[in-house]
Amino acid sequence: MKQTMLIPEYVEYIPEQLADGRLYICTQYKTIAHKCCCGCGEEVITPLSPAEWSIRQEGKTVTLYPSIGNWSFKCQSHYWISKNQVIWAKAMSQQEIKRVRERDAADKAKHIVHINQKKEAQVIKESKSFIKCLWMRFITWINQ
Ligand SMILES: [Zn+2]
Repeated sequence: MKQTMLIPEYVEYIPEQLADGRLYICTQYKTIAHKCCCGCGEEVITPLSPAEWSIRQEGKTVTLYPSIGNWSFKCQSHYWISKNQVIWAKAMSQQEIKRVRERDAADKAKHIVHINQKKEAQVIKESKSFIKCLWMRFITWINQ
């Protein structure tokens, strides 16, 4: 049966058996799981990270961003989860699916580059403060 709504449930661990119409949110492992809303029985696991999915809570409702695109399943269903409501997207052509997947991959790559740049900046900052520290020691040594 096609779901029109998902009830969020906060869990410590994702249960082995997922129930239809539930959205399991495991904040500890930053993972969300639910059964495909088309009713095919496939399990959809969405990791929460800046490059993957993010969740917004408003009262008892949750909104997931971006949409869920089950391209690897037979059903290829595509929907949004907005305030617990399942909003079905129109069926995409193979061409469109390919484009979305490529864009997702590019976004992820961009995010990794961004993180690496941050890391590099941190290393530079650290090595600068290391040199400064050596220099300070040197000055203190001279002044002794
Ligand atoms: Zn499905």
